[in-house]
Amino acid sequence: MHYTIDNITALIGARRFGSAEACIDWLLTDSRSLAFAETTLFFAIRTKLGDGHHYIPELYRRGVRNFVVGNVPANYETNYPDANFLLVVSPLKALQRLAERHREEYDLPIIGVTGSNGKTVVKEWLYQLLSPSMHVTRSPRSYNSQVGVPLSVWLLNEHTQVGVFEAGISQPGEMAALKAIIQPTIGVMTNIGPAHQENFATIQEKCLEKISLFKDADVIVYCADDAVISECMAVSLYTGDTIAWSTSNTDATLYIRSITKKADHTDIVYRFLGVENSMSIPFTDDASVQDSIHCLAVCLYLHLQPADIAQRMAQLEPVAMRLEVMQGVRGCTLINDTYNSDVTSLDIALDFMNRRPEQGNKPKTLILSDILQTGLPTTELYTQVADMIERRGIDRLIGVGPEISAAHALFNVKKVFFPTSDALTESGLLDTMSNEMVLIKGSRKFGFEQITAALSLRVHETTLDVNLEAIAENLNFYRSFMKPETKITCMVKASAYGAGSVEIAKTLQDRGVDYLAVAVADEGADLRRAGITTGIIVMNPEMTAFNTLFQYDLEPEVYSFKLLDALVHAAEKQGIQGFPVHIKLDTGMHRLGFNPLKDVPQIIERLKRQSAIVPRSVFSHFVGSDSPDFDEFSARQFQLFDEASQQLQRAFPNKILRHICNSAGIERFPERHLDMVRLGLGLYGIDPIDNRRLHNVTSLRTTILQIRNVPKGDSIGYSRRSFVERDSRIAAIPIGYADGLNRHLGNRNGYCLVNGQKAPYIGNICMDVCMIDVTGIDCKEGDTVEIFGDNLPVTVLSDKLDTIPYEVLTSVSNRVKRVYFQ
Ligand SMILES: *Cc1c(COP(=O)(O)O)cnc(C)c1O
Repeated sequence: MHYTIDNITALIGARRFGSAEACIDWLLTDSRSLAFAETTLFFAIRTKLGDGHHYIPELYRRGVRNFVVGNVPANYETNYPDANFLLVVSPLKALQRLAERHREEYDLPIIGVTGSNGKTVVKEWLYQLLSPSMHVTRSPRSYNSQVGVPLSVWLLNEHTQVGVFEAGISQPGEMAALKAIIQPTIGVMTNIGPAHQENFATIQEKCLEKISLFKDADVIVYCADDAVISECMAVSLYTGDTIAWSTSNTDATLYIRSITKKADHTDIVYRFLGVENSMSIPFTDDASVQDSIHCLAVCLYLHLQPADIAQRMAQLEPVAMRLEVMQGVRGCTLINDTYNSDVTSLDIALDFMNRRPEQGNKPKTLILSDILQTGLPTTELYTQVADMIERRGIDRLIGVGPEISAAHALFNVKKVFFPTSDALTESGLLDTMSNEMVLIKGSRKFGFEQITAALSLRVHETTLDVNLEAIAENLNFYRSFMKPETKITCMVKASAYGAGSVEIAKTLQDRGVDYLAVAVADEGADLRRAGITTGIIVMNPEMTAFNTLFQYDLEPEVYSFKLLDALVHAAEKQGIQGFPVHIKLDTGMHRLGFNPLKDVPQIIERLKRQSAIVPRSVFSHFVGSDSPDFDEFSARQFQLFDEASQQLQRAFPNKILRHICNSAGIERFPERHLDMVRLGLGLYGIDPIDNRRLHNVTSLRTTILQIRNVPKGDSIGYSRRSFVERDSRIAAIPIGYADGLNRHLGNRNGYCLVNGQKAPYIGNICMDVCMIDVTGIDCKEGDTVEIFGDNLPVTVLSDKLDTIPYEVLTSVSNRVKRVYFQ
């Protein structure tokens, strides 16, 4: 389908301002992702967090000419010549409506996938299972929201033979819109669990809302053994066919006769319409078994042959959602995208790469394999890829595979091609790469692991995995308490609470935060050298580091007259004018700061005498905003601050930002946000009010080095502090107190997780290694061990250690490699 702006105006029922001709291929909702300006239609969507209309001037400058808006800009004819503005009541609804119209052009099997967990895995596995026989169009990654679903459905094209789209909801009423866009003919209900329960009265209500996606489908696949889903199916208005699979009901359309777990695979015997067959999947966990049976039901419904199904099931690949940023050799930065290779995910990865500012603009190299199973003719495919690479500013392409090599003439960047990954590795080219940003993206068949291994810096088996998406989600959580105009400072002190300040700062800068705050000047200088341009506050500026402040535009906190005078003196000596500073008042912490009752007139007087520095903000810090026990004291702190800061403001014509709330304050005292707030611990996934988990950001992981059997009565470790009271299996793991694993966790005071089960630390924790008791736990050498993270909250450790989560997070030592992913 090709759309002109005329078609689209009619399809979404808009009023058009402007009369330029245009063809539209791309729909855009996030200005940062722009690549193909001339053929892009931008939807200016308003959300709690922002307003797309603000980005119109910038997008126009970058070449976009077509906009769907809720308000037409003033004087659009003079300010935006050649642009079209399509005026609608709701740009979001217009986007959804356009996707709906687009969907209606296709009379194809469309699979809708919903449920609490496993949506993305089922969608990706259906892709793996079906794509050898037909051309599949599917949602990119986890695009399953009110915006993500329309953008996914827009990808349907003349080659598509089957579509697979996931739908996610977080509130009642959202499914109706997604149903109209996806119009599934085949529904898969994966399972129902507690996710997003806060907005629904009961789990049944949520389940029924999800099932409503399939009201008009031809068939629904679900597990009949799930009581909640079965009950909801019975009371729903659905009248079509079902494949309700069961492990107990022998009359079920799809009866699962046996599930047998082996060391590294699971055998499944099933009976469909009275005929018995079997398959094996290369996974043994319950979730994978359930997901694979959902996929089996869909394949059978689509008349795939049991032999083909079995053959493809045996080759299912794990679904990696990760875009990892890794430190590479010789100053390279690697972005490793292990997600399935296709055009859309390539574009998302290129976009991600472009959003990560780097020191001195490192040149960008893309290592790309043949892109398989797209159904597109190769010339068309690689013309698209070449265009994308050029638009996204790639400097050099390293192509691997016969197809991309054959298409070499299409690429207009520096380029080199190899038939296989081995040929690339043997060529020696990888050994010459230095100081580049390298995006590595290959279809699995090409075994790009060896390329990643050759380019990545390997330090230690123990890693701190940092989920950058979780940072963004936590930021949004706190923004949801804030007025849109309130500014936000994010604390990245102490290496971003242990997570590593550079990558976190990049993520936060990308999300448009107003300030970052570090402890000392050198931390700020590191961020500037890494390409961070957001304002930076230095909380504890050393007298010896003033030149660093001036050189890198780092704005100091000023908490005493001594510091104030020294700073003015140093700035004047360099001829600096109007350097912004942040005035700290001590309202009760008694740590650093001016006295709000006595010092303000003096501060005003000294600031007025000079012009080298200007007060940009004034702030204070609560001592106990996390607990109602201190509410009276917090109120007194606030009052002191309110009066003193107003007094300061009255003395100056320029606006002085006032701020006092930290994470807990943001949530508990919305009326005290003033002009700005300062977000710390909550950003890293822990709500300081009750230590509840938000989105987990960091996971400390290691691997089992060695396992030994120890007879009853023997002791483990230095000084014979622990004895085993039974014949035991003891594993050694490469993490010790020098990595930040607190010694007080030893001798069975704490535990880690091995394959989901608790393994207590036994014996004294050593410097680089410690021992854990894995008796009765199914595990082997090389298995992953979680010290804290997604499944073991860091607060479990801090409680055992009688400390606060801040201390555990910031104790992970620098030698532990940080791995960032999105
Ligand atoms: C660390 C810090 C914060 C953030 O506190 P959290 O409790 O982590 O949100 C805010 N303001 C100042 C001055 C800080 O030092």
